[in-house]
Amino acid sequence: MIEIDGAQGEGGGQVLRTALSLAACRGVPVYIHNIRQGRRNPGLMRQHLACVRAIAAVCGAEVRGASIGSKAVMLIPGKIKAGDYRFVVGSAGSSTLVFQTVLPALLMADKPSRLTLTGGTHNPLAPSFDFIQHTFLPVLRQIGCGFDARLERYGFYPVGAGQWTVTIEPPASFRKLTLETRGQLLDVEAHCISAGIPGHVILREKQQLLRRLNWADDAVSVSQVESLGPGNSVMIKVRYPQITEVLESHGAMGISAERVANHTVDLLHRYQGFAAPVGHYLADQLLLPLCLGAGGSFVTGPLSGHCKTNIDVIRRMLDIDITVEEIEPKRQWRVAI
Ligand code: ATP
Repeated sequence: MIEIDGAQGEGGGQVLRTALSLAACRGVPVYIHNIRQGRRNPGLMRQHLACVRAIAAVCGAEVRGASIGSKAVMLIPGKIKAGDYRFVVGSAGSSTLVFQTVLPALLMADKPSRLTLTGGTHNPLAPSFDFIQHTFLPVLRQIGCGFDARLERYGFYPVGAGQWTVTIEPPASFRKLTLETRGQLLDVEAHCISAGIPGHVILREKQQLLRRLNWADDAVSVSQVESLGPGNSVMIKVRYPQITEVLESHGAMGISAERVANHTVDLLHRYQGFAAPVGHYLADQLLLPLCLGAGGSFVTGPLSGHCKTNIDVIRRMLDIDITVEEIEPKRQWRVAI
């Protein structure tokens, strides 16, 4: 049994998710305590509980401590089973994080799987469906995995209830990733979406993007989307030959449309400033697939707390060599696995 202190590093939900994923992949029991001790509301919230239940279903595990607010969970994994799974978060909690928890195990399975996920699809502090679709999955295709992801309904905070499906095809054998340069910029586009809020919001966001970026009108699209609750997001998609980065901000009560647009532009400038192919969030999300696959290397900007913590948890659970080297002072780091 491996013991993981959930308070380590960032002390957030990712420590729990990485420990669950790796326990399932290795077939080794894990005990995680002090869950999310670094957060204001420690313990399992709905999204984390959905992750525990989802991983237990995928690897036929015996679980203890799977209840809301629980600060300790034990998972005794069985055999990983490909299949047709439905996972419901039951709040606006992120469904994409549930997906990322079970993904490593299902990539180890001997057959394809199909997931239907219900919950938040466009949440602050989590990858959106668009980030999964355009940033995360394309990199995993490069190491041999196959996916078909479709968004059926958007889910915004606080109502959630979005829905999407994804088929996961494990690779016959994993390929090594080399993602060290961006290459030439191919295109940049922005998309403002909203549901159930006045139409002027996305129009003001569009105007602000055009002003800040000095773009032509057709580089920004606006649309009203299907959702059971209100919501609004601004996304900028930057495409390079080997990587597409999705930068996003989400509207909330009391935050002006202009501020949401400005924040997304700031993220774009930050991403472009480091000139590294792998962005702030993708870096920590690539670690598990690379560690379980054939490894490789990527270049990213300053390592986030998420990334450093994830490396520590992975080192604790896998016998693996992860090196991090600053290759351009204060701008670029190379992570090799
Ligand atoms: P908590 O922090 O409350 O415990 P959590 O369960 O969401 O919540 P975190 O440990 O914060 O857990 O992990 C969040 C994950 O979401 C990380 O993998 C991070 O890279 C990713 N993420 C956060 N914001 C974005 C974003 N804007 N785009 C893409 N990914 C994101």
